[in-house]
Amino acid sequence: MKRILLPIFALMLMTTASDAKKNTPLSPGIKLANLDTSVSPHVDFYQYACGGWMKNNPLTGEYSRFGSFDKLAENNRKQLKGLIEELASKPATQGSVAQKIGDIYNLAMDSIKLNAEGFKPIQAELSRIGALKSVSDILKLTPELSLSGLDPYFTVYVGADPMNSSMNLVQTYQSGISLGQREYYLDNDEHTKDIRDKYKAHVVKMFKLVGFTDADAQKNMEAVLKIETRLATASYDKVKLRNPHANYNKMTVADLQKLVPEIEWNQYLSSLGLKDIKDISVSQKESLVEVGKILTSEPLADQIAYLQWKLIDESASYLSDKIYAQNFEFYGKTLSGKKEQSPRWKRAVGTVDGVLGEAVGQMYVNKYFPAESKERMLKLVHNLQEVLGERINGLSWMGDSTKVKAIEKLKAFYVKIGYPDKWRDYSALNITKDSYYNNIQRANKFESSYRLSKAGKPVDKTEWQMTPQTVNAYYNPSTNEICFPAGILQYPFFDMKADDAFNYGAIGVVIGHEMTHGFDDQGRQYDKDGNLKDWWTAEDGKNFEARAAVMANFFDSIQVAPGVHGNGKFTLGENIADHGGLQISFQAFKKATAGNPLPVKDGFTPEQRFFLAYANVWAGNIRPEEILRLTKADPHSLGKWRVDGALPQIGAWYEAFNITEKDPMFLPLEKRVSIW
Ligand SMILES: [Zn+2]
Repeated sequence: MKRILLPIFALMLMTTASDAKKNTPLSPGIKLANLDTSVSPHVDFYQYACGGWMKNNPLTGEYSRFGSFDKLAENNRKQLKGLIEELASKPATQGSVAQKIGDIYNLAMDSIKLNAEGFKPIQAELSRIGALKSVSDILKLTPELSLSGLDPYFTVYVGADPMNSSMNLVQTYQSGISLGQREYYLDNDEHTKDIRDKYKAHVVKMFKLVGFTDADAQKNMEAVLKIETRLATASYDKVKLRNPHANYNKMTVADLQKLVPEIEWNQYLSSLGLKDIKDISVSQKESLVEVGKILTSEPLADQIAYLQWKLIDESASYLSDKIYAQNFEFYGKTLSGKKEQSPRWKRAVGTVDGVLGEAVGQMYVNKYFPAESKERMLKLVHNLQEVLGERINGLSWMGDSTKVKAIEKLKAFYVKIGYPDKWRDYSALNITKDSYYNNIQRANKFESSYRLSKAGKPVDKTEWQMTPQTVNAYYNPSTNEICFPAGILQYPFFDMKADDAFNYGAIGVVIGHEMTHGFDDQGRQYDKDGNLKDWWTAEDGKNFEARAAVMANFFDSIQVAPGVHGNGKFTLGENIADHGGLQISFQAFKKATAGNPLPVKDGFTPEQRFFLAYANVWAGNIRPEEILRLTKADPHSLGKWRVDGALPQIGAWYEAFNITEKDPMFLPLEKRVSIW
């Protein structure tokens, strides 16, 4: 499926209850089997708190990382499978949501049809690209390819105007490199060079699988690498991409025409369905200028090879098993260290989830999301909001005028829990029995057109950026909203039967994490209305930066693999959010239980259980290949470091487990982070 640009801060990178009875004593929530008591919490807290979980949940071949998130997502996926298969097993009225869900699932499952078709579903499109005669032909075709999910060279999307957040604005964004991260094309360490060599071999194999000769496949691969390397060189690096001001260049389309004259912009935008557009933000200016040069300087044959590659690469998951297997060989095995493909039904559920996410979500919440969960969550959110306010007012490093603005922003949070109030309308999406690939193409066009149709219109704040069944959460800076889908409101994040020590340690920290995103190094640049407007005094801004630098340096110093360090600036926002989440939720927990302290359970004090519940959220196993890939691609620290890097900054954790200066995990007070 087309990757949709979401300028939001999620809880984690993702690839997707029960009733409380009155008078039932609340359980501690902590499972003792998750612990590894052979290791001291003073030496390696992550291993101590999660070692049992890791031993009991070994990595299976289909996973490169498997943690608490994935385990819960597996459960959600099984529930979705039940709902989907019921629809897929019986006939439905043409045009109904049931028909759409059933047909696309059945097509995804039909390996006989997929294998009989081979690469036929993309053959006509490959020939059409092959017949292009000029740059102007290329520019006529690229908007169409972009709508159907390819995004060669760059992409155009519509999102809130960062300087006028209530209105949508057309924006460009860098795109077009299949390896996703520019470092894969530019770095020359052994690991990256090895990945690059294997990528080249993969491109050759894929061209051959769709009917090209050995010689042509080789030639095409060289062209693809040359063009993608030029795009990678011109693209912003991931740290610069986190700077909202550096990625905002609003101009008239007439000025864009002067900046990148190689593209006829009015025509290009109009082919995307964007008529009479006056203003556009060029998110990465220099990158788009280079795209113009690439379009006019690279030989036509090479650009044809590049466009054909984008088509092959993006469609591989929806074609025959042979093509899928080669695709998995590179992206699954080489890049991530997976050993085997996921079963077909999981991929099929994933596709239905991607294409008709809210339709499936509506069924999911009706069956699996209890109303009481929402009430308890609202109470938790309220309590955390109050405590963050108290903490802001008590900050020694921030002046009064900035505090007033910060409190205003905190009070203006728009809170979403469970599922949206109004559901997406899928009536314009046409799903038929012709071929799996054709349906994916139509679904991508449906999605792109829907998103682009918002150009020039007011932002709809009620819209959700994640489906309700998703095990994740997010903060959206342009709407100042925090969102917690139903999918994450389950054990081990949330448990109606567990006491406050557990729920504040798990979902409470998640809530605090999302709230803190509004005040992390990126989020703090947006005001209460979601505009990129500085509400800080110069001195307070400097104080914040000095404190954030302590965090960045600390995570820079962590060795995530032999000779490989974390990237403190890239992961700064997420690490600040984890830190804030822990501080706020712990204080809210103490406040909520002040009049009625919780007892010791299973030999653990309530404070200890708070931190164990937090650590268990991040329990997981990971392959060495995936550690290297995520360090390049994921703005979140690895699970181990979200525990062993985050907790040594928290005073209450030292007290709870009696950690002293003699212990390996001890960090002297003057070296600890202190922000929110
Ligand atoms: Zn986050």
